[in-house]
Amino acid sequence: MLLTITTTYRPATDLGYLLHKHPDRLHKFPLSFGQAQVFYPEATEERCTAVLLLDIDAVRLVRRGRGGGLGLSQYVNDRPYVASSFLSVAIAQVYGSALHGRTKTHDELAHTPLPLEARVVAVPCREGEALLRRLFEPLGYAVTAERSILDPTFSDWGMSDYYTITLSITTTLQTLLSHLYVLIPVLDDAKHYYVDEHEIEKLLRHGTDWLPDHPEVELITHRYLRRQRNLTRNALARLADSEVIPTAEQSIQQDTEETIIEQQVGLHQQRLAAVVATLKQCGARTVIDLGCGEGKLLALLLEETQFSRIAGMDVSFRMLEIAQKSLKLDRLAAKQPERIMLFQGSLVYRDPRLHGYDAAAIVEVIEHLDPPRLAAFERVVFEFARPSGVIITTPNAEYNTKWETLPAGTMRHPDHRFEWSRTEFQAWAQRVGARFGYQVNLHAIGDEDEQVGSPSQMAVFELKGRNA
Ligand code: SAH
Repeated sequence: MLLTITTTYRPATDLGYLLHKHPDRLHKFPLSFGQAQVFYPEATEERCTAVLLLDIDAVRLVRRGRGGGLGLSQYVNDRPYVASSFLSVAIAQVYGSALHGRTKTHDELAHTPLPLEARVVAVPCREGEALLRRLFEPLGYAVTAERSILDPTFSDWGMSDYYTITLSITTTLQTLLSHLYVLIPVLDDAKHYYVDEHEIEKLLRHGTDWLPDHPEVELITHRYLRRQRNLTRNALARLADSEVIPTAEQSIQQDTEETIIEQQVGLHQQRLAAVVATLKQCGARTVIDLGCGEGKLLALLLEETQFSRIAGMDVSFRMLEIAQKSLKLDRLAAKQPERIMLFQGSLVYRDPRLHGYDAAAIVEVIEHLDPPRLAAFERVVFEFARPSGVIITTPNAEYNTKWETLPAGTMRHPDHRFEWSRTEFQAWAQRVGARFGYQVNLHAIGDEDEQVGSPSQMAVFELKGRNA
């Protein structure tokens, strides 16, 4: 079993500090199931590679009843050779400090995104390369996967289910290791030890920062927990409660606060009406509501026969449950199964489920995204999903001074990461339009004040060279 990690950060040999392993030495670690070694085949200022080589003691595994299966399969199996949960255990034991982001001397470096490349040999993946990509690409990796043939001496036996994968990314070493720690056993879809509640803690410890937003959060959680339904349900609920996503109770409370602040003007109704009118006008027949929340826009879209296919996506599972109930989706789906669907996903990850709609509505959502994630959001929507029309609404920060209930200098919603003035929104929209080839028009929503404008603002993007 082989895991190599390479960096071209300068000086590249600093990798040794982060891994707590000096590049000039060979490091050996006895483990309960074999032996691990770490060494550096290259260690220069420009490029440094650390290899973690894991030798599994197959005989010891059989004696401990972990060889897998009975009879011959106890002795003849892939366990000693493939990347599996043994590799995760080795990562935790041999690279433990790096996995937990601990360092005595190089704290800043440990928190700095570095150009990294990880290569893992013999990763089992019965579902093929597509699953490998679905797991790693949303996290920002460039993935190359080389499938091994089953046996070079008997080429007509065909290909095996094992891949050598290379993952390139710029991120912290801790992030890279936590991704591998969780996803390798997910791909292998097996574990060499008994899985119970403690496994949820591990998943949360290593996944809280990235898993809740991952489009495959359910598959990852289910397989990581060895397909135990109760554990999976429990873990998903706890992941949804982690700080990455506000809990539904918080969201509902926050939404109520926002509603109270805005209700003097019935602003949200005006906003939704403006969005529906624009969608009708641009002739869209299929629409996706991204960050659909409780489904208020979806309810209005369903009333219009022009829209033959409607989808709602949100990062919060609880919001989707609320939408499902308030739209009476179960009943609706029985009558018009093709017309509407809801699904969980995140706007900052590329997702093929977002493709194929005439228009996308993103109503009061972008201000909930962390500014460093905006660039990813832009590409997800305008480069990959690429609908003919995109409608985005967001508050106009200038108007906040008009609300007596809103203390000066605060935003309308505790979860808002930013609120833009009219010029800021316009500048952003123009830049995005120019970059991705969309024509942009800006509109005011709500009563307009001479000085500070209207409370809400809407940008309508139309793909150039096509009639949306
Ligand atoms: N569009 C709805 C809800 C707006 S509230 C309406 O106008 O009524 C913002 C919504 O964005 C919340 O439901 C929140 O869960 C969702 N959200 C926040 N970050 C998201 C992300 N990264 N991907 C998808 N949805 C997100």
